[in-house]
Amino acid sequence: MKNLTRSELKAIASQCSQYEPVSSQFTSSLSNASTSCETCSHYVDRKCTLDLIDQIYDNMTE
Ligand code: SF4
Repeated sequence: MKNLTRSELKAIASQCSQYEPVSSQFTSSLSNASTSCETCSHYVDRKCTLDLIDQIYDNMTE
């Protein structure tokens, strides 16, 4: 797994069809929380539980 920057995580989430914002702390206090893997409910332990990050990242860099 690559070490991705915040802007890369945002770019990935914006391309991701499975992006699902976490409903709790992020979105309630920050109404304009940005789309990013960091605010996705599938992002656990700095990894995508659906294993989509590498796939999307590779598509973006092609
Ligand atoms: S964590 Fe996974 S499912 Fe969520 S936006 Fe990122 S790549 Fe998509």
